[in-house]
Amino acid sequence: MDNPKSKTQNLKSEADLLKDQLIAWRRDFHRHPELGFQEFRTSGIVAKYLSSLGLEVQTGIGQTGVVGLLEGSRPGPVVMLRFDMDALPIHELNQTDYVSENAGVMHACGHDAHTAIGLGIAQLLTKRREELAGTIKFVFQPGEEGCGGALAMIADHVLENPRPDVALGLHVWNDQPLGLLAAGNGGVMAAADIFTIKVQGQGGHGAQPHLCVDATLIASQIVVALQSIVARNVNPRQTAVVTVGAIHAGTAFNVIADTAELKGTIRTFDATTRAGIVHRLSEVVESTARALGGRASIEIKVISPATVNDERVAQLVRETAIEMLGAEHVTADQLTMTAEDMSEFLSQVPGCFFFIGSANAAQGLNAPHHNPRFDIDEAVLPLGVAVLAEAAWRYGKTTTD
Ligand SMILES: [Zn+2]
Ligand SMILES: [Zn+2]
Repeated sequence: MDNPKSKTQNLKSEADLLKDQLIAWRRDFHRHPELGFQEFRTSGIVAKYLSSLGLEVQTGIGQTGVVGLLEGSRPGPVVMLRFDMDALPIHELNQTDYVSENAGVMHACGHDAHTAIGLGIAQLLTKRREELAGTIKFVFQPGEEGCGGALAMIADHVLENPRPDVALGLHVWNDQPLGLLAAGNGGVMAAADIFTIKVQGQGGHGAQPHLCVDATLIASQIVVALQSIVARNVNPRQTAVVTVGAIHAGTAFNVIADTAELKGTIRTFDATTRAGIVHRLSEVVESTARALGGRASIEIKVISPATVNDERVAQLVRETAIEMLGAEHVTADQLTMTAEDMSEFLSQVPGCFFFIGSANAAQGLNAPHHNPRFDIDEAVLPLGVAVLAEAAWRYGKTTTD
């Protein structure tokens, strides 16, 4: 009786019919962006809409997070769908009629699109409640942008009652053209650490270097020396980045700086590589400073682990996407050194986090993520709904049939 092909067509065309509604939601969230853990308006709209669909809704999970449970009419697995809701401290430079009305805050990563896609999927799957096997757990997460939103939700027991059997999520992706879906096997996004280096020299007159220990010079040598770690200490078969993003020292042209501070990030996929880099960072920082007569210390903090997809779930996503988008629009090549705290969920629950291309260069909609001119081709919204809803639906079916 069940013809999966006709179901696929159905969900795709149902998602297409939602396009205007998806755009309206996304533009509303875009106009009213909120920073991590301040998503009061956004989460209020989400909670209200999920309640109106008849879902069992919990609010205040991880401060501003929302969870909605959709129980199917047949027994089956618990499928978690995760959507992040937060914006960034960026002042938007676009001139659209849905430009941010909250000065200095902007949806420059596309989480407005994710929230809209989540609401659309909730609507589609609720309509199919009678045929749905298992439970869909909608997780609307606050504070993805380095704020620890996923961990906050986990601390509030989002992975219990019921415990998800699988977790799925997506990111609109302006590095790729509209509709190109990437779902890789294994590690797809890097583990991220932040490091802070404090250099202690001895300040003095700019014309009397022999009486000083120049913290600026030490900091500069450290930046250069750190680049040798990836080049000379990391196994060339592994992937890693060490970036110094900020350097601060000194106050005047004729003063030798007493102290300097550097901040940067480490990106890796594998734990041994990470441990090696952490070890060498401390050695290089401390000994470079000592060689130049000063002192330096380093503090390293984990931001998030690597995002690792389960191969079987990633394959299910790709197979679903091939039917909906065509094989030429689906790839397993997803590897990037950017990081995501979806990784916190995927380190406890098998699943897949995939990218769906949202750029349209011809329309000028291809600024990179976190850029003040970031915007997406909104045609990605129904595509995201279709693939993610169908993958969730299918996971329930294939594990119970
Ligand atoms: Zn981002
Ligand atoms: Zn993002």
